[in-house]
Amino acid sequence: MKRVLITGAAGFLGSHLCDLFVKEGYHVIAMDNLITGRLKNIEHLFPLENFEFHNHDVSKFVHVPGKLDYILHFASPASPIDYLKIPIQTLKVGSLGTHNLLGLARVKNARMLIASTSEVYGDPEVHPQNEEYWGNVDPIGPRGVYDEAKRFQEAMTMAYHRFHNLDTRIVRIFNTYGPRMRLNDGRVLPAFIGQALRGEDLTVFGDGKQTRSFCYVDDLIEGIYRLLHSDYTNPVNIGNPDEITIGEFAEEIIKLTGTNQKVIYKPLPLNDPKKRRPDITKAKAILDWEPKIARSEGLNLTYDYFKKLSKEELSEVDHYDFEKFIN
Ligand code: UDP
Repeated sequence: MKRVLITGAAGFLGSHLCDLFVKEGYHVIAMDNLITGRLKNIEHLFPLENFEFHNHDVSKFVHVPGKLDYILHFASPASPIDYLKIPIQTLKVGSLGTHNLLGLARVKNARMLIASTSEVYGDPEVHPQNEEYWGNVDPIGPRGVYDEAKRFQEAMTMAYHRFHNLDTRIVRIFNTYGPRMRLNDGRVLPAFIGQALRGEDLTVFGDGKQTRSFCYVDDLIEGIYRLLHSDYTNPVNIGNPDEITIGEFAEEIIKLTGTNQKVIYKPLPLNDPKKRRPDITKAKAILDWEPKIARSEGLNLTYDYFKKLSKEELSEVDHYDFEKFIN
C-alpha cells in the first residue's frame, strides 16, 4: 500500500485530499496543528484503518515512522485575515515547515508536492497569469507574509530538486471554493454566503471591479492528483479561468441565496490584487486537465453545505482589526 503524508490535513484543501487518497487506496498520514484547520473536516475518516492523524506543527522537526511514497505540503493559513492574525506562523510554515518536509522527503526517498499559490504573482501586471511570469509582490505589505513564504517555498523546493535530485512538484493554486471552507476565514465566498444566511448586507471591498476566477474544489483536487502522478517538475497553474468581478459575484450570491439584503461598500484592503485569472495552457497540455464544474453548479453545491451549518457555527464570526489592512 502506498503511503502519503498530507500536511494541513484538517483544512479545506487538505481534508479533500485526504478523502481522495483514502478512496484511491492509499495509507494516509494526516498532519495538522489545528490553528486554522478543524478536526470536523476529517473525523469521518478516523475509523478507517488506512487513515491516521497526527496533531503536529510542521515548523518543528517532523518525524514519521515507516516508509513514505509521497508528501503533500498543504499546511498554511490561507486567507488574508489569517495572515494578519498569525503572520509569523504563516511565514514559518512556508519556510521552516517546507524545509523540514523536504528533509523528510529526502530521507524517505518520497516525492514531494508543495501547495503554492497565485499570490506568487502578487498584483499581476500580466493577464492572464502564466507560469513564466515572475510576479509583482510587495514583500512588506500585509500579504507579504504569505506571498514571500510561498515564493521561498518554491525556491527551496527547486533547490532540493536541483541540488539533491529530489522528486518534486509545484502546484500554483488559484481561488478555490467549496464545502468545508471556514465560514469565518474572511474570504469572499464564505463571507458573502455567511452574510446572506445571517441576514446581513454583503460587504464588497473597493468598487467591486477587481476580478477573481473561482475553481470548484473537486476540479482542483483532480488537477493536483494528476500533477503528482505526472513527471513535470516546474510549477503548474491549477484554477478555473472563468473570471468575474467581485461586484458581479455579490449579485450571483444574492440570487443564489434569495436574500433581501443589499451590497454595501467597504475600503479595499492594502495590496488587494486588481485582477486574477490563470492561464491553464500548461495544465491542459501536460495533465490533460481542465475544470469541468461551472460556477453555477459549484455555487449550488457549496450553498447546500453552508445551509446545513448550525446557528452556533453561523454566528462564529471573528472580528479583526481591518483598519490595519486598509490603505
Ligand atoms: N472581498 C470582498 N468582500 C469580502 C471579502 C473579500 O469584496 O467580504 C474581496 C477582496 O477584497 C478581494 C476578493 O473579494 O478583492 C477576493 O478576496 P479573498 O479574500 O476571497 O481572496 P484573495 O483572492 O484576495 O486572496
